[in-house]
Amino acid sequence: MPTAKIERIETSLIDVPTIRPHKLSVATMHGQTLMLVRVYCSDGVVGIGEGSTIAGMAYGPESPESMKLAIDEYFAPAMIGNDATRIQALMAHLGKLVKVNHFAKSALETALLDAQGKRLDVSVGELIGGRRRDRLPIAWTLASGDTTTDIAEAERMLDLRRHKVFKLKIGAKELKTDVQHVAEIKKALGERASVRVDVNMAWSETQAAWAIPALADAGCDLVEQPVASAEALARLRGRFPVALMADEILQGPESAFEIAKNHGADVFAIKIEQNGGLFAAQRVAAIAEAAGIELYGGTMLEGAISTIASAHLFASFATLHWGTELFGPLLITEEILAQPLDYSDFELTVPVGPGLAIELDEDRIGRFTRNGTKTVTK
Ligand SMILES: [Mg+2]
Repeated sequence: MPTAKIERIETSLIDVPTIRPHKLSVATMHGQTLMLVRVYCSDGVVGIGEGSTIAGMAYGPESPESMKLAIDEYFAPAMIGNDATRIQALMAHLGKLVKVNHFAKSALETALLDAQGKRLDVSVGELIGGRRRDRLPIAWTLASGDTTTDIAEAERMLDLRRHKVFKLKIGAKELKTDVQHVAEIKKALGERASVRVDVNMAWSETQAAWAIPALADAGCDLVEQPVASAEALARLRGRFPVALMADEILQGPESAFEIAKNHGADVFAIKIEQNGGLFAAQRVAAIAEAAGIELYGGTMLEGAISTIASAHLFASFATLHWGTELFGPLLITEEILAQPLDYSDFELTVPVGPGLAIELDEDRIGRFTRNGTKTVTK
């Protein structure tokens, strides 16, 4: 086995506009910031990773800026000089030095896996267990905040054969207004599309108990994280003829085990960043499968790097009942890859090649980089 030492680590913030405002119950996004990390190794291999959040710190405790700081000041000094090829051992070591910071850990683990894949001439998907599928179904999120605009957007996506599964972001408005919004969109799209909702924890348990059966009547297939508490979600599950999905409450394998123990959700949204990296997300998926909980490939509206890291993982899952929502790169106006990703026929093609199997367009990355790049050597 070849070995390679980590020589230096670079972080930068890439600010890119979104194609339209993206409205969630927690915030409205007008752009996305990708925290890009590059891990340079003594054998000349460079691995790339990404950390992105939804609307700065509105979604969780980490931001692109906080990830950059955590890597520059804490992770990078602890990684320099270590063996880049012992990824799980190195990540376990970092886990002892830095608590939580799941998004930053995911970015670093992605970069190490990308580097190791390039070194061994295999894809990240093969490194983490082997791909079972070459293409992934891709849902689209309708979040303009306006019913008519959302219907027009969904029709355009159906015409383009890009998406036929639509997730509606609700929870910021009155319950009746939200239910009406969902019902009108489902009525317009009919059997041509699956309509689902994400409440991002906005409802109380009693609000959820009123709204979920109304959503089921409206033809909604899946309700994502209607309430904040795992206990309340577990009490709601099984009461209504619609699947309930856990998202925000999944924060790594231990949380997944707690939820699975009580069969506290019908579906898990698996996210590499939220769970602390690809290996942790893989363990969450294994817990779900063992507990009879179905899988969905989630996104933090990541750019192409973390999206493709996720794609390699999701392509390795034994089952993926609810598809994925890896549409983050499509929400961003700027292409940051030399070779754009293939979104066609309602699916994303998982790229083939060493590591993540993607190449950055360095000119474009440079153009959108905020205040230069910081390098940590020792
Ligand atoms: Mg969600």
